[in-house]
Amino acid sequence: MADIIQLLPDHVANQIAAGEVIQRPASVIKELMENSIDAKASSIKVVVKDAGKTIIQVIDDGLGMSTTDARLCFERHATSKIRTADDLFNIHTKGFRGEALASIAAISHVELKTKIESLELGTQIYIEGSKVISQEAAVMPKGTTISVKNLFYNIPARRNFLKSNTVETRHIIDEFHRLALAHPQIAFTMLNNGSTVFNLPTTSKRQRIVNIFGAKTNEKLVPVIEETDIVKVEGFVIKPQFAKKSKGEQFFFVNNRFIKSPYLNHAILSAFEGLMKEGMHPGYFLFLEVDTKSIDINIHPTKTEIKFDDEHSIYAMLRSSIKHSLGQFSIAPVLDFKKNSELDTPYAYNKKNPVSPTIEVDRNFNPFMRDTPVRSKTASWEAMYVGLKQDEAQSGKHIEFESKEVNGSLNDTYEEETGQTTFQLQNKYIISLIKNGILVIHQNLAHQRVLYEEILKNITLQEAVSQQLLFPLKLQFSKPDIEIIKSIQEQLEHTGFVFSTLKDDTLEISGIPVAVLESDIKNVLEQLLADIKGEVPDAGFSQNDLLAKSLAKSLAVKVGTSLNKEEQEHLIHQLFACKEPAVSPNNKPVLITLDVAGIDKKFM
Ligand code: ADP
Ligand code: MG
Repeated sequence: MADIIQLLPDHVANQIAAGEVIQRPASVIKELMENSIDAKASSIKVVVKDAGKTIIQVIDDGLGMSTTDARLCFERHATSKIRTADDLFNIHTKGFRGEALASIAAISHVELKTKIESLELGTQIYIEGSKVISQEAAVMPKGTTISVKNLFYNIPARRNFLKSNTVETRHIIDEFHRLALAHPQIAFTMLNNGSTVFNLPTTSKRQRIVNIFGAKTNEKLVPVIEETDIVKVEGFVIKPQFAKKSKGEQFFFVNNRFIKSPYLNHAILSAFEGLMKEGMHPGYFLFLEVDTKSIDINIHPTKTEIKFDDEHSIYAMLRSSIKHSLGQFSIAPVLDFKKNSELDTPYAYNKKNPVSPTIEVDRNFNPFMRDTPVRSKTASWEAMYVGLKQDEAQSGKHIEFESKEVNGSLNDTYEEETGQTTFQLQNKYIISLIKNGILVIHQNLAHQRVLYEEILKNITLQEAVSQQLLFPLKLQFSKPDIEIIKSIQEQLEHTGFVFSTLKDDTLEISGIPVAVLESDIKNVLEQLLADIKGEVPDAGFSQNDLLAKSLAKSLAVKVGTSLNKEEQEHLIHQLFACKEPAVSPNNKPVLITLDVAGIDKKFM
């Protein structure tokens, strides 16, 4: 047989390699920012448009590159950071593979401008899909500016794979956070679609955290400091009472590199044991320093995983130092030697008497009882579907009962005899007797389905009713969380939210959906943020869908809530007015039927 193996041309090889390094605009931001950090920049500016889909620009005042290097840096395996194989075991820079720029240049239009201190003139190169289009001299200060346009222009499949701007922007902000947190001695700014999202001056670790996540964060931080022969730990954990339902602020750095380590995360969780409710996630910003020779950062191409030589000792040490800090904090909460006066209470509040916080727990929480508007609103909405419903029920299209005969026959002879068609089982299931057997409905999932369809309809038709709050509700969220809320502001308003302020880290709400209690708002929004952040990339759900699912989940009547007969019937009615009563918004079964024939079988 003839020889058939060929070497791939460089630009093809680069394009393939790019797939591994550059998954989305955020990967470009990460690689470019890392290069600027490696180039010892003292100030880094990131400019993004359309979530990086149109343009990404990173501007630094670092070392810059010579004219030759400016051209060479786009070659694969071109790096100034390692020279020999031995260097691989002693890495002090972010990059070392020499792949990033080659990959980026293979799949976009890149303009590089760079100048080193000792030269009068800089150089400017324009590259399209790995091909150098032009190179000329440029007048500019020391440093490097890289602009990446039309990412994935030559890989439509990839481009189509990108998520909504909200999701992609979130990924970008995540990467930005990680690098900004690890390098407080560098000033960072970020502009998104022309507006400044972050402006972070050079500062301390603590102040950097506060600058990113909002002034309120400061009082939540508990310092953690410990040093042993193998590892030095420094950083902060967030007080247990501020633990969240989502994995919000969990940052773990090793030698200033952000990493993910489920194993060490477990060490942190176990240090919080007994201090927070089951299922909550503690926040932390922890910086570990270990000998570069004792870790292997080589195992993952995007380098968020790491291998330690002595993982077990690090686990134990981390756990005990956090426990120690938390313990100390509970004995002497005011001890904070590194207190930064800038972060103190603003002058105007100094003389005010502190108000002791109250916790509002509504033990009688029952979404069926509290708001008459909900009912009437739902009722009119029900009316919309009833006609439609009957047709569909008759055709059996949506509800796949084991026995077709049960369709639409909820109130039957039994009711006439006893006046009761439903029972609640363990405050969890609603049992309804039907013509041919028994219907078992999961109350929480059923209500989720009802709310989901209602919310989705409200968002689409924009006709939600809102309840005006007597006093606007002021809530503190991190800046990035506010950005997320901003990006879905319109949809939220369609569900009944009215925002009076929405900027920096403050959110002021003057109206809320009628179905929501004011005391629940913070939880509802937190859950929503968690859901948005945890959204499986590429799952292909729309924002509206996600929003409706999340709100439905937060607001649905919980398992454990006792419902009276009227409420049970009301829920069943609402459920069967839904387009798809048989499945929850997350595709779980909402109801099952046991028909007599099925029951008979059990007795054979
Ligand atoms: P790596 O960072 O792994 O070395 P890259 O492809 O990211 O590989 O970059 C290639 C080389 O280009 C770097 O090693 C560095 O010498 C040079 N370089 C890239 N970005 C910058 C920058 N912002 N300032 C100075 N030099 C840079
Ligand atoms: Mg690099």
